[in-house]
Amino acid sequence: MQHLLGIEDLSADDIRNILDRAAYYAKALEGGKWDHKTLDDKIIITLFFEPSTRTLISFDIAAKRLGANVVNWQVENSAMRKDESFLDTILTLNQMRPDAIIIRHVEFGAPNFVATRVDCPVINGGDSWREHPTQALLDALTMEREIGKLEDLTVAICGDVAHSRVANSNAILLKKMGANVRIVAPEFLMPEKFAVEGLETFTSLEEGLPGADAVMLLRIQKERMEAGQIPDDAAYHNEFGLTLEQLNLAGPKAFVMHPGPMNRGVEISDELAEDPERSLIARQVANGIPTRMAVLDMLIGG
Ligand code: ASP
Repeated sequence: MQHLLGIEDLSADDIRNILDRAAYYAKALEGGKWDHKTLDDKIIITLFFEPSTRTLISFDIAAKRLGANVVNWQVENSAMRKDESFLDTILTLNQMRPDAIIIRHVEFGAPNFVATRVDCPVINGGDSWREHPTQALLDALTMEREIGKLEDLTVAICGDVAHSRVANSNAILLKKMGANVRIVAPEFLMPEKFAVEGLETFTSLEEGLPGADAVMLLRIQKERMEAGQIPDDAAYHNEFGLTLEQLNLAGPKAFVMHPGPMNRGVEISDELAEDPERSLIARQVANGIPTRMAVLDMLIGG
């Protein structure tokens, strides 16, 4: 593996190797024992063109847990504010010889473009509505740790699927690993084309949830919609918001997941968000660290 640009580029074996390494780091973090010098002397640039809490901080912490130094480039303080182009920014940073670049960008395929112009591994921290590979990997790690498997698991991905890179990466990964994937979305948020074949589609929670082991919720990506397309929060909650009662349509043991940021009272009820038995949301965040440690280790360690 030279870069991590999307789940689409990975084989089932590649995914298995990353998940095994991530599971190793998850245990190691709990036990407090791992090689803190794995990335000693490595310098990683985070280049985020969109806001982020989970992905940015968790890459930063993962890198530091392995002994790397992280340089956090910020567009507001950069020469792009003096009209330097994206390409010249990339070429300039490349001349400083970083060991890896982690990029989040609004443009479709921006990380792939960067990978053709720099000499180090590039990791996609999310590009447009295309892919968010480390989110899908940390979600898979969470399902394996909490439910025990991916193969033959039934996962319902619900909400604004049309604008979601998380939905794409998860659908691709889950299909590669032998899970059943359902897409549950109102007509206006149902994509015209899917990132992968073999998905079942439903337009209501009542139809789409029964029998699902995990219900993966998505935020309405208002920033990717025209003003007139944005639904009313309360009306959306009434029709598509997940409460404990709706989660029970899936089954009494089904889990809820969410990549964050959550909008409580819109796609998820306030109580369900923190339900200690049924919500995996906090564990997804925690699993982001060992997953990103695994990715960094495999790309630039030793
Ligand atoms: N944090 C995820 C992403 O970057 C999901 C979201 O923003 O709704 O795509």
